[in-house]
Amino acid sequence: MANYRTENPATGEVEKTFDELDRDGALAAVEKAHTAYETWRQTSPQDRAQVLRRTAELYDERADELARAIAVEMGKPMREAKGEVKLSGSIYGWYAEHGPDLLEDEELDAQGALRSVVRKEPVGVLLGVMPWNYPYYQVARFAAPNLMLGNTILLKHAGICAASSSLIEEVLRDAGLLEGGYINLFASSKLIPDVIADPRVQGVSLTGSEAAGASVAEAAGKNLTKSVLELGGSDPMVVLDAADVGTMAKVAARARLSNCGQACNSPKRMFVDDAIYDDFVDALTQEVEKAAVGDPTDEATRVGPMSSKDARDDLDEQVQDAVAKGATVRTGGKPLDRPGSFYAPTVLTDLTPKMRAWSEELFGPVAMVYRVSDADEAVRLANESSFGLSGSVWSDDPEKAAEVAARLDVGMAFVNEHGTTLPGLPFGGVKRSGYGRELSKEGMNEFVNRKLVRVA
Ligand code: NDP
Repeated sequence: MANYRTENPATGEVEKTFDELDRDGALAAVEKAHTAYETWRQTSPQDRAQVLRRTAELYDERADELARAIAVEMGKPMREAKGEVKLSGSIYGWYAEHGPDLLEDEELDAQGALRSVVRKEPVGVLLGVMPWNYPYYQVARFAAPNLMLGNTILLKHAGICAASSSLIEEVLRDAGLLEGGYINLFASSKLIPDVIADPRVQGVSLTGSEAAGASVAEAAGKNLTKSVLELGGSDPMVVLDAADVGTMAKVAARARLSNCGQACNSPKRMFVDDAIYDDFVDALTQEVEKAAVGDPTDEATRVGPMSSKDARDDLDEQVQDAVAKGATVRTGGKPLDRPGSFYAPTVLTDLTPKMRAWSEELFGPVAMVYRVSDADEAVRLANESSFGLSGSVWSDDPEKAAEVAARLDVGMAFVNEHGTTLPGLPFGGVKRSGYGRELSKEGMNEFVNRKLVRVA
């Protein structure tokens, strides 16, 4: 089956296939992106900001079309799909607004010379390898700051996102980006090391699995090419107390079931204080059972199908492993008996370290709840994970929660919210969740030449 295709996960039907580039085609794209770079790097920050501003407007104007494309290709419910389009547009808008200021020279103490400044210059062609779970947002985080800087982009999107990927390229072109400034690389991941080895490619950013990240980092390392990795997570949500357990459970269910649970920073492990654990589990189970599962293009749907049958089967294997080793299924725990790749929204309790679910990421609609005796136990278990993307601590006393949140080994710690992402906030993790940062001013600090210019 063609790797680049639109396969509706709600029906299992392949709706469209796309041609794939061979090695020569991929390297020709590098050449084209490099030619564009030589022009793009000479443009003014204001001109580049104008392209990004128009991109943001087009995301707004074409919101329904863009949202429908991802609902059909990866199963995101329309309401969430529209939210993703809006957020993605706002990222282009944020860099259009702040980019020129962020590119201003930084004056240093001249230290005996006439002048010492740090200039911010682009580095060249960049490769992005992006996943299917947030097809527009993941790309925007990488493309917007780097186009602002004057870099050009080759984008290898996930095979199942060929339709939205084509739309991204089209929108940027319609916004006035020069030919070759952003090129879709519909190519096998086997060709990625060859692209990275091309000396015109000066950086690579991947969001996706640990395996894909390791493979890209290896190729980057061999070629001394800078890389940024945003990998998985098994984010802790620590609930210290809650006067209103029902509302707390509602918030937790919504966060965990968002995007059918397929988010790197979804609260996959919930550590709940013994005093409210039983009430919380009951309320969470009710909330999860209430979630409307269905066709993602239906506006009433809250939980769509998983992105593919393979993803669903992988998740089910992890759940069955836990069940075989003693986990309790409070609700769900199996694929739904209907066409497509639906999985029943699930709550698991009584998890132990010998289960795969204890240490692996569960990339689907499965909440795992752990009973803890106090904050110390919650922090210890939370930090046992090999991942360190984000985490949250919840309490009616935000200051107490903030002290606990500060002890989490994560790249992003939240109190009384989970997984907030905004253009002006940095995004990224530690440990096996990857390295580097996206968004905010940090997102313009990865693939940049901070060039010292000293005039004696
Ligand atoms: P992958 O990591 O395989 O896919 C993400 C992107 O990487 C896709 O564009 C994919 O291309 C590409 N890719 C895969 N292998 C390589 C490689 N060796 N070299 C270069 N590029 C590669 O994710 P999956 O779809 O397989 O999802 C599996 C798991 O990954 C999930 O269960 C989850 O744990 C994690 N994941 C994390 C995400 C996050 O947001 N951090 C997002 C998605 C997944 P292609 O589609 O052509 O294979």
